[in-house]
Amino acid sequence: MTEQKRNYQRELEEILASPDTLGKRLFLHACCAPCSSYVLEYLSQYFEITVFYYNPNITVENEFMHRMSEERRLIEAYMAEGKCKYPIHFVPGTYEPGLFLDAVKGLEDAPEGGDRCAVCFGLRLHAAAKLAADAGFDYYTTTLTVGPRKNAETINRIGRAQGKQFQVEFLPSDFKKKNGFKRSVELSHQYDLYRQNYCGCHFSRPAEEEDAKAGSAEDAKPGDG
Ligand code: SF4
Repeated sequence: MTEQKRNYQRELEEILASPDTLGKRLFLHACCAPCSSYVLEYLSQYFEITVFYYNPNITVENEFMHRMSEERRLIEAYMAEGKCKYPIHFVPGTYEPGLFLDAVKGLEDAPEGGDRCAVCFGLRLHAAAKLAADAGFDYYTTTLTVGPRKNAETINRIGRAQGKQFQVEFLPSDFKKKNGFKRSVELSHQYDLYRQNYCGCHFSRPAEEEDAKAGSAEDAKPGDG
């Protein structure tokens, strides 16, 4: 089966349908609270989740810290409400923008969705897969496929490769499907989450400013980190 023809949402549903999945431990890389909102609501009915906020692509420290504190606030709110069948834990990632800037040297002008983004996904998934394997998690995955501009084929391909390298199972996803993106917007409003208007690296800012001028940024990318 080619990458183009794979239906990652269906593959995820097949895994979730197995009674063996219930209560397994999932290490979830999270880009931001808005994208996590739907993914946590959905997957916490099946897994005991540890959220790993790790985003060296967010080069502005205040932005990095603010997105992290929103992630924590969301998890605390979900836990306090008893919204999840299984508990959610949190692991903060290190602020290390130099790692990202070194990795994308020469790709600064690549368009969003291109080679720079593939390197960016790889950095984050590499770190997540390594930690998940070291701690003996059953699965690992990322919230990144919620973003309407994020290519599910690329993310799933990189996720599988990193999982293979560290010998931890990558949970396939295309969370934007089945109204996942729409639900993330609803939940972001409901929990009054900070919804950034750009992806994360400063190279992504001009495009976002153009979107904002066109009046489309709010609904196109509420938390697309
Ligand atoms: S646009 Fe987003 S995904 Fe692409 S390199 Fe920048 S932060 Fe990473």
